[in-house]
Amino acid sequence: MGKADLHVHTIYSYDGTATVAATLEYVKRHTDLTTIAITDHDTIDGALEAVALAPRYGIEVIPGIEVTTAEGHLLALFVQAPIPAGRSLIETVHLVAEQGGIAIAAHPGGPWRWCLREANIAAALADAQIAQTLVGLEAYNASLPNLALNQHACAMGQRLPLAMVGASDAHMLWMIGMAATWFPGEGSRDLRTALAHRTTTLSVSARPAHFLASYLKHQLLRMMGLAQWAPSTPGAPIALRRLAAVHQP
Ligand SMILES: [Zn+2]
Ligand SMILES: [Zn+2]
Repeated sequence: MGKADLHVHTIYSYDGTATVAATLEYVKRHTDLTTIAITDHDTIDGALEAVALAPRYGIEVIPGIEVTTAEGHLLALFVQAPIPAGRSLIETVHLVAEQGGIAIAAHPGGPWRWCLREANIAAALADAQIAQTLVGLEAYNASLPNLALNQHACAMGQRLPLAMVGASDAHMLWMIGMAATWFPGEGSRDLRTALAHRTTTLSVSARPAHFLASYLKHQLLRMMGLAQWAPSTPGAPIALRRLAAVHQP
């Protein structure tokens, strides 16, 4: 079985707090994940950097982006170029399809404007090409302020013809892998097949009570221009560094 965390942020997101190198180092050293997707908010630059660095760490990285559609956040995976924000869900999924990618509804059904609604997803799936591209839904997102909301997402996943995905939505290193997706097989090709055939299952870890305090602390450090960094040499220590010194566009 493969184990994937398909929703991970880096400092390329305005609210990410770890560099790409630190993210890969952490995944290698502290998780049993076989595959991750880097999905920064409305930018693909971190994902492309991660794909380039991944062989040094022996990790499979799927390039992705968390697109802010007009109706809510959508994960686009297996894409190589940025996808513009602000388009409708249907238009956005067509842009993902043009790149040969697939899409997953991020934290659907939540009470916030950045969460896709069930009615919007169901309406989009009526289009055959959309249904081939929008194949999954986060039935468990480990970074929701209120984890009980995942019960609604899970119920939605049982009503909609979509694969169940668990993901960390990590904005801090230690959250990576706190939720993940099991799939038959090993590599990203098998993952795509599993999503298309709805044969994925969820992996969920208990979230420590200090999550919110840690999140706020990390966001404060981010605002102060600090981020968790590891040099590009695998095995080097992860430490807090100035963003300006580590963020090389
Ligand atoms: Zn989101
Ligand atoms: Zn996210």
